[in-house]
Amino acid sequence: MMKHLILTSLILGSAMALSAQNALDALIQEARDDHAHLSRTNDPYAGLKAAVQEDYPYLQDLYQHYHLHPELSFHEKETSGRMASELQQLGFEVTEKVGGYGVVGVLRNGEGPTVLVRADMDALPIVEDTGLPYASTVTTKDDAGNEVGVMHACGHDVHMTVWTGAARQLAERKDQWSGTLVFIGQPAEERGGGAKAMLADGLYERFPKPDYAIALHVNAGMEAGKVGCRSGYSLANVDMMDITVYGQGGHGAYPHTTKDPVLLASRIVVALQTVVSRELSPLEPAVVTVGSIHGGTKGNVIPNEVGLELTLRSYTDEVRAAIIEKINRICKGVALSAGLEESQYPKVELRDEFTPATYNDPELANRVQQVFVKALGKDRTLDVEPVMGGEDFGRYGRTEEEVPIFMFWLGTVAKEQMAAAERGQLQLPSLHNSGFAPDPEPTITTGVVAMTAAVLNLLQ
Ligand code: ZN
Ligand code: ZN
Repeated sequence: MMKHLILTSLILGSAMALSAQNALDALIQEARDDHAHLSRTNDPYAGLKAAVQEDYPYLQDLYQHYHLHPELSFHEKETSGRMASELQQLGFEVTEKVGGYGVVGVLRNGEGPTVLVRADMDALPIVEDTGLPYASTVTTKDDAGNEVGVMHACGHDVHMTVWTGAARQLAERKDQWSGTLVFIGQPAEERGGGAKAMLADGLYERFPKPDYAIALHVNAGMEAGKVGCRSGYSLANVDMMDITVYGQGGHGAYPHTTKDPVLLASRIVVALQTVVSRELSPLEPAVVTVGSIHGGTKGNVIPNEVGLELTLRSYTDEVRAAIIEKINRICKGVALSAGLEESQYPKVELRDEFTPATYNDPELANRVQQVFVKALGKDRTLDVEPVMGGEDFGRYGRTEEEVPIFMFWLGTVAKEQMAAAERGQLQLPSLHNSGFAPDPEPTITTGVVAMTAAVLNLLQ
């Protein structure tokens, strides 16, 4: 009996303790909910985030449409048509065929600054290998007449979708900003020609001149849901160069009767390594890469010439000019040392595909980064290092108008994939890889929130 009583009171006691614990848990939860509610309502971007989420089904369809219908540089006919009609539906005044297939949409909304938002539209000659249900199966003939696959392997489909999403939000919220929007769809970024062509076709004369220009680029090594910012130089000057090394061909068994261009080209490749390592300041970023060397047909035939293809990277105009001058000097020097006549010195040709460095205006970059911190949080707004890759967005800041520009990075990698990559279990496909597959929802919604928040801030 006694035993039974003790047991009963023990059970009762623990039941009471349990209910007290439950009540406490409930109180804590209530407090948490209150706090969450409070911080939700204190988030000035809560409305924007909810609206973007609500618009996502539309944007997902649009993204899959662009992804399924990629077009090569200078051939963005259907893509630009769709971009134009998206803006027309929102009340933008739209002009097509600006610098090729460029699209310019203007939305005026009272006094205030003009903000240009740019998305590039072209895809790459790559056979898609992502296995996605909406993978591209498009094939076409490239400008050289080769049959190629076509894929949005640089994420320009994400750029166009985010651009449209931001235009939709801004058109909805005309009561929250004052000024002028200039939304541009740019062709031929991958060939370095689109920005140049749009500017040459009067982008800053025929349309309102921007006080700021913003763009984003997807990042294949950053988690979806995050953005990356960099002030100052962010992407490099890009040059492509061809060098033809001449000699006098002949029989491989009688080398003394020839001038061997294979040996000369080899010497040039080795000597070019000293441009960056010995001739430029170690504090100035630069790259000289010989990516292609072609010559000869047979082991016992010394050819007449060898071709080299190079890419050159730098940040400043001075370093760029110095690299080109040093390469010319080294090529001449090697030919001279081999006893070639001046008429047989190597031909050094810079291709007309120069892409200038992207210099993010520090004041604009810092201002927009602060907006991202407020809209997305500090943990989702990363400081990133500059890279030696290139983008022709830099051109919009290099005209005599000196428009401050800012390009930020948009993360694309699914959370699980990022974690696996960090554990060393997965090699993430880079941009321009046939397996590049962004995680669409967090990538696109984050992009639209970030871009819209930035423009709203600039048009306050
Ligand atoms: Zn690219
Ligand atoms: Zn790109």
